[in-house]
Amino acid sequence: MPPTVATVVYLVAGLLFILSLRGLSEQASAQKGNWLGIIGMVLAVAVSVAGLFGFERGEAEAAGATTNVLAVYGGAIALGALIGGFVAARVQMTAMPELVAVLHSFVGVAAVLVGLGTLQEAGAHIDLAHYVEVQLGVLVGAVTFTGSVVAFAKLRGTIGSRPLLLPGRHVLNLALVGGCLALAILGWGAPPDRSFSYLLGVTGLASLLGVHLVWAIGGGDMPVVVSLLNSYSGWAAAAAGFMLSNDLLIITGALVGSSGAILSAIMCRAMNRSIWNVVFGGFGAEPAKASATQAPAGKVRETNVAETAELLRTARNVIIIPGYGMAVAQAQHPIREVTDVLRKKGVNVRFAIHPVAGRLPGHMNVLLAEAGISYDLVKELDEINDDFSDTDVVVVIGANDIVNPSAVDDRASPIYGMPVLEAWKAARVVMLKRSMAAGYAGVENPLCYRENTVMLFGDAKKTVQSLLAALQV
Ligand code: NDP
Repeated sequence: MPPTVATVVYLVAGLLFILSLRGLSEQASAQKGNWLGIIGMVLAVAVSVAGLFGFERGEAEAAGATTNVLAVYGGAIALGALIGGFVAARVQMTAMPELVAVLHSFVGVAAVLVGLGTLQEAGAHIDLAHYVEVQLGVLVGAVTFTGSVVAFAKLRGTIGSRPLLLPGRHVLNLALVGGCLALAILGWGAPPDRSFSYLLGVTGLASLLGVHLVWAIGGGDMPVVVSLLNSYSGWAAAAAGFMLSNDLLIITGALVGSSGAILSAIMCRAMNRSIWNVVFGGFGAEPAKASATQAPAGKVRETNVAETAELLRTARNVIIIPGYGMAVAQAQHPIREVTDVLRKKGVNVRFAIHPVAGRLPGHMNVLLAEAGISYDLVKELDEINDDFSDTDVVVVIGANDIVNPSAVDDRASPIYGMPVLEAWKAARVVMLKRSMAAGYAGVENPLCYRENTVMLFGDAKKTVQSLLAALQV
C-alpha cells in the first residue's frame, strides 16, 4: 500500500474517532458514536497490519515474510478479539468500571513493553528525543498499569475502599518521581545493558508510584480516578505512538488523554472534589474521623410493604432515588410498573439521578431507559434538589452515599462537600436495602436514623414486586 493511502486512511480513522467522541456525548447519538469508533478502529488495525506486510514499501522480499507475519499478528488479533468479545458479552453492567480499569491496565503495560523494546533495539544509537520519549512512555505506562490494577481491586472490593494515608506520603511520591528522573539521567549515554537496567529500575519505581497514588484515594472519589486513569492510558498510548513513529496512535492517544482529562475535571466539579487530591494521591485528604464510622444518633424504624403501599397511595408527590442496589437487584422493571400504577392514580412520580449513582457515569439513566421509563420523568441532581421539601414521599432504592446528609453537615466525613440528593427534606423517606451496611464509601448514613425515615429491608427487586402487588389490590 503506498504511504499516501496509509496516511489518508489514518486521517479518516482519526476523524472517525473525533466524530465518535462527539456522538458519545449525548444519549440519543451514543450508539451512532460507538459505531463510528468501531469503523475507525477496524480501519486503523487493517492499515497497520497491511504496513507490517511491507505493502507500503512495495518490498519484494517482504512477501517472503508474509506467512510468518500473518500467523503472528493474525493469531494475536484473533485471540484478543475472542477473549475481548467473550468478556464483554458476559460482563454485568455493575462490573463495567472494573472491566474499564482492566482495559486501562493493558494500555499501560503495552506502553512499558514498547518502551523496553525500543531501548533494547536502538541500543547505543538512540538519540536524546527518542530516549526521553522512552522514559516518559515507560513512566506513564507503569503508573497507569499498577494504578489501574489497584483501582480494579478497589472497585471489586478485593481491597477496602478506605484511602491508605501513609505519613509523609507526598515526600514518598516525590522521592519515587525523583528516583525515576535520576535513573533516566544515569542511563543516558551509559552502555546499552546498563541503560536497560536503569529503565527496568524506572519501571519498578513508577509501578510503586501507581500503586501508592491510587491506594491513597478514598472510595467516594473512585469515579474520578477511573476517568483519570483513562486519561493516563491515552497519554501512555500517545507515548507509544511516538516511540513507534505511528501518527494514528499519537492522535488516538492524545484524544483519549485530553477527553479523559476534561471528563475528570467535569466530574470533580460535579462532586465538589479537588482534582489535585486525585492527581497527587490523596493530596489534602485527612484520615476519616470517628464520626464517619460511629453509628449516628437516633433510632432505626422499620416498616413493611403494606404500610409503604398505603403511604404511596395517599401521596401527591413522590421522588424515587435509584442507586447501586437497584442495579444489583435489577429492580428497574418492577419499579417502572409501580410508577405506571401510581401515575394512573394521579400521583406525580419522578426519578432523581445523582451523577455518581451506581458504579459508572450514566449507570442509572441506562437502566431506567432500558425499563422504558420516560426521559421526562428522570431529573438530574441540579434540576430536582430544590423540590424535596415539597415532596410527600421519597423512595430510596439501593442508594446510600448519594443521599448521605453527612456530605452536607459533617466536616469530618470523607464525603463532606460532595453534592448529594437532599432526600431528608421530604415529609417521609422510605429506604429499601437489605441491611444497615454502609455504601461504597464505607461511611455510616445518618439518613437511616432520622425521624422521618423508615427502613424497608429486603432485596430491592422482591420488595418492589411485593409493593406492586399490594398497590394493585
Ligand atoms: P452505594 O454503594 O452507596 O449504596 C448502595 C446500597 O445498595 C448499599 O448500601 C446496599 O445496602 C444496597 N444494596 C445492595 N444490593 C442490594 C439489593 N440487592 N437490594 C437492595 N439494596 C441493595 O451506592 P450509591 O448508588 O448510593 O452511590 C454510589 C457510590 O459508588 C458512590 O460512593 C460513588 O462515588 C461510588 N462509585 C461510583 C462510580 C460512578 O461512576 N458512578 C464508580 C465507582 C464508585 P445493603 O447491603 O444493606 O443492601
